[in-house]
Amino acid sequence: MDKERKEQYYVLFERFIDEMSAIPDFDRNHIVQTVTEICEFFHLSKAETQFYQSLAHESRGEGEIICDYDNGKSDRIAVQRRLISRTGAVVMSTVYQSNEDNLTDEEAEKVDILLRTMMTFIGRNRLQDAVEKLGFYDEAGYANIRSFMRFIDRLAGLKRLSGHTATCFNLRRFGMINQQLGKDIGDVVMHKFYNLLKNMVGEDGIIARMGGDNFVAIFPKERTDAVLDVFNGVPIVFDQSSGRRVTVSASAGVYTVPDDFPMDDPRAVMDRIFPTMHIAKQETNGTIVWYNDKMVEMRDHAMKVRSAFPKALKAGEFRVFYQPKVDVTWGKMVGAEALCRWFRDGKIVPPMEFIPVLEQNADICYLDYHILDLVCRDIRRWLDEGKKVVRVSVNFSRKNLSEMDLLSNILDIVDRYRVPHEYIEVELTETTTDVAFTDLRRVVTGLRDVGIACAVDDFGMGYSSLTLLQDIPWTVLKIDKSFLPADDEQVVSNNHMMYKHVVSMAREIGLECVTEGVETKKQVMILRKNHCHIAQGYFFDKPIPVEEFEQRMDSPMYDLSHTSQEWIFQDDKRRTPKKKRV
Ligand code: C2E
Ligand code: MG
Ligand code: MG
Repeated sequence: MDKERKEQYYVLFERFIDEMSAIPDFDRNHIVQTVTEICEFFHLSKAETQFYQSLAHESRGEGEIICDYDNGKSDRIAVQRRLISRTGAVVMSTVYQSNEDNLTDEEAEKVDILLRTMMTFIGRNRLQDAVEKLGFYDEAGYANIRSFMRFIDRLAGLKRLSGHTATCFNLRRFGMINQQLGKDIGDVVMHKFYNLLKNMVGEDGIIARMGGDNFVAIFPKERTDAVLDVFNGVPIVFDQSSGRRVTVSASAGVYTVPDDFPMDDPRAVMDRIFPTMHIAKQETNGTIVWYNDKMVEMRDHAMKVRSAFPKALKAGEFRVFYQPKVDVTWGKMVGAEALCRWFRDGKIVPPMEFIPVLEQNADICYLDYHILDLVCRDIRRWLDEGKKVVRVSVNFSRKNLSEMDLLSNILDIVDRYRVPHEYIEVELTETTTDVAFTDLRRVVTGLRDVGIACAVDDFGMGYSSLTLLQDIPWTVLKIDKSFLPADDEQVVSNNHMMYKHVVSMAREIGLECVTEGVETKKQVMILRKNHCHIAQGYFFDKPIPVEEFEQRMDSPMYDLSHTSQEWIFQDDKRRTPKKKRV
C-alpha cells in the first residue's frame, strides 16, 4: 500500500470507528455508506455479519444476519472472523471477493482488524439492546414504567411536555375476562388492546405497563379524544377464525399538561394521574376522571387522616352519637343507630371526612370494633341502671367482610359486656362482586344464627339487587334517603313508585323496613301510607350525644299529634304499643 492509499484507508477507518461508537445516536445508514466505501476500497464483493444469542442458537441457525454490502460477485471468502462473547453470544463476520480480486497480505491484515473492531462494536450494541430490553420492557414485552419516565424526562428536556395528555388507566373487569376466557386468551386480549393504543399514540407518545392491568400513557393532546373513545370500550377479536371478540374498556385518570407546568419536576405528572385513576376505579364519578387541583388537597387530607388515626383511636377521640329510629304510627323510639364522631382539636369531624379514607385500607375495621365496644359498654351500663334499652345498630364497613374472624370478634365484644344479642344490630352495605356476596351471606347467616339482627344499609344507593335481598337472611332493610320522595315531588313520580314497591317487597319477604333521611311531616305521611313503620331522620332527631340519647330513652315518645292521622291504618295500629305517653 503506497502512502496515499494508506492515508485514504486511515480516513475511512477513523470514520468507521466514530460511527460505530456513536451510541446512542448510532445511525445504520451512515455505517452502510462507510462499509460500502471500505468494500470498494479493498475490492470486496460482500460484507456480512451473523449474530447468535448463544451457541445453541447458532447450532439451530436461529440468528440475525446483517448484510451491509453486496455487489453480487462474491465467489469466495476473503476473510472470516468468529467471536464468542463472555455472555456466550456468537458474532461472525465474513467478507467475500470475486475470483478476479485478491487482497495483499497487508490488506488482508487491515481487513481483519476492521472486522474485529466491528465485531467488538456489534457485541456492545447487542449488549446495549439487551440492557434496553431488560431495563425498559417487562417480561411480557410491554414497555415498563422506566420507559415512561425516560420519555417524559426527554419531553421535559426538550421543553415539550406541556401540550401532552398523560393518563393512568386500569382495564375494567379484566379479572373477569381472564376467568371467563382463560389467562392465555386474556394475555392476547391485553396485548391487542395495548397495540391498538400504541398505534394510536404513535412515535411521539408512549404507552407503558405498570404491572397487572395498570398502564400509563402520554401523547400529544390532539389524540386525547381518540384515546378516550378506546377507554370507553372497543371490541377485541381474540379468535381470528371464529371472529370471537370481547369488549375491553378502561377506568382512567387523565391530565393535560398545562403551559405553566414546572419542567424541573416532570415526574409530578405521575402524582396527578395516579390518584385520579384510583378515583376513576371507584366509578363514583364515571370511569374517566380528569385531574383537578382539589384532588391534591384530598390526597393530602387522606394522608393526614391516616397518620393521625392510630393515636386518635388510642386517645379516645372517636366517640358515638346515637340517632333514634321512631315508629311513625305512634311516635315511639324503637331503636337507634350508632354513628361515629371524631373529636379533634375541639371540633367534631363528620364521618364523611374520615370514613372513606379509612376504608381505603383496613383501618376502618379497627374503628368499627371500637365503636361496637363503646356501644356495648353503654348498653351494659343502661341495663345495669335499669333503663328501657332499645336495639342499637352499628355500622360495619364492607372491608370487614373478608376477615374470617369477623363473627367471632363481634361476638367476643358483645359477650364481654354480657349484652343480650337482641340489643345489637349490624348494618352492612350492599356489595357487587360474587366473592363479596359469598362473604356477606356467610357473615349475615352467622350473625342471625346467634340472634344478632342484620340490616342492609343504604338500599337503593348502589346496585340494589333483589337477589341480595332474597338470598341473604337479613332482618332489616334500610331504604336510603335518595329513594324517599321529596316534599315537592309528584305522587306519580318514579321515586314514589319505586319507594312504594321496595317497601311492599320488603314486607312481603318479611323484612323490617326503616326509611332513612325522613326530614318532613309530609315524608312521615309517605311512610305511613306505604306501611313503612320505622323512620330515622332529622324530623325526629339528628344523631345526638349519649347524654341526650339517655333522656330520649327515659322519655321515648315524640309528639305526632300535629301530623294527619289519615294514613294510619287499623292493622298498623294493632301492632303498636299500648300506652301513649308524651
Ligand atoms: P349511614 O349508615 O347511612 O348513616 C346515616 C347517615 O344519614 C348519618 O350520617 C346521618 O347523620 C344521616 N342522616 C340521618 N337522618 C338524616 C336526615 O334526615 N337528612 C339527612 N340529610 N341526613 C340524615 P353521618 O353520621 O354523617 O354518617 C355518614 C355515614 O358514615 C354513615 O351512613 C355510615 O355509612 C358511615 N359511618 C358513620 N359511622 C360509622 C362507623 O362507625 N363505621 C362505619 N363503617 N361507617 C360509619
Ligand atoms: Mg348505617
Ligand atoms: Mg344508611
